[in-house]
Amino acid sequence: MVKKDYSVERMKELECLYALVQELADPTVTLPDALQRVVALLPAAWRYSEVAQARVVFDTLEFSHGPNPGTDCAWATAPITVQGKRRGEVWVGYPGDAIAKKTTPFLKEEQRLLTEAARQIALFVERLNSKQEQEALREQLSHAERLITVGQLAAGVAHELNEPLGSILGFAQLLHKTSRLSAAVRDDLDKIIAATLHARGIIQKLMFFARQSSPQMTAVALNPLIKDCVELLWWRCEDEGVEVIFTLDNELPSVWADEAQIRQVVINLVANAIQAMPGGGTLCIQTRCRNQQVEFSIADNGVGISPDVLPKIFDPFFTTKEVDQGTGLGLSVVHGIVAAHGGEINVTPNTPTGTRLCVRLPGRGAAGNNRSREFPHD
Ligand code: ADP
Ligand code: MG
Repeated sequence: MVKKDYSVERMKELECLYALVQELADPTVTLPDALQRVVALLPAAWRYSEVAQARVVFDTLEFSHGPNPGTDCAWATAPITVQGKRRGEVWVGYPGDAIAKKTTPFLKEEQRLLTEAARQIALFVERLNSKQEQEALREQLSHAERLITVGQLAAGVAHELNEPLGSILGFAQLLHKTSRLSAAVRDDLDKIIAATLHARGIIQKLMFFARQSSPQMTAVALNPLIKDCVELLWWRCEDEGVEVIFTLDNELPSVWADEAQIRQVVINLVANAIQAMPGGGTLCIQTRCRNQQVEFSIADNGVGISPDVLPKIFDPFFTTKEVDQGTGLGLSVVHGIVAAHGGEINVTPNTPTGTRLCVRLPGRGAAGNNRSREFPHD
């Protein structure tokens, strides 16, 4: 009799585990669905299944099956641990006095089943996370491809325009040198020269974006470079009521980079941050060295970037600013330069408000860049 009971219990547990694994293997199932399905399946596998209650908590999600058992309940529990971090718990219990007060209300096998259910939930969450990571990666890749296409287009246009602009500028400067010109004509020529120089500046930025200008690589110390750049924009900080806080790593190793281009990156990021704080604010500039990478971040507590704007900020000519405030080329230039240096740039919201842009460049001792061994390991 005991033997028969035992085998019936084992069958119930195995059936429950089988159903549970099948439910969680469904690729269309969402996390709340999965948790609900698990709590619905568990009670049937327990010895007193007709009164058993199940409950699961995972992060902020919580589901239970059966009426709320109240406090007078014996619970068996198992933690849900995802990648070493405890994220929740599964419970099965009996309400009321009768079973709760038995000395051993739960079988050893029931506890094992519960532990296995918690492990299956954890595996499900890991699968879900890696699927989301893959999707994010695919999205990043298609964005990078789009930038390359636009970059090639921009390079073509920049090249076509650079030559005629050079001629306009050259002839205008030549004419300017001739004597016997009236003041009005000279004035007009000045305007032509200024406009041409402005257009050439934009084309140079486009070429940076399309990586057409060949970089002059040297060992660059970032801390003094960053201070220099902020110095250049100091008057704008004062005008706008922006306070600058530096947290610079004194041991920061140098990077192998084109100094002028890195200056351009810093100036663009700082200028954007200042523009994002029209009523004043705080600009936090930090440098540090992590995992053989040199990192600098520029964080403002300004207007922030809304989720619908975020995917477009690196696109050339994308701007949310007035015509005289922005060309929409800053971040696309920054992206082009950082990529050409084998680095990466990340945008995250700053807390409680604003934006943080973080640039990582490979250190001089990093793999594939062994001109120097001076780079310390973490
Ligand atoms: P521009 O500054 O000429 O508009 P950018 O390429 O530098 O062009 O920036 C593109 C857009 O990204 C900006 O128009 C703005 O909407 C957004 N942006 C960039 N940096 C910030 C920042 N620090 N805070 C808020 N928005 C920003
Ligand atoms: Mg800008």
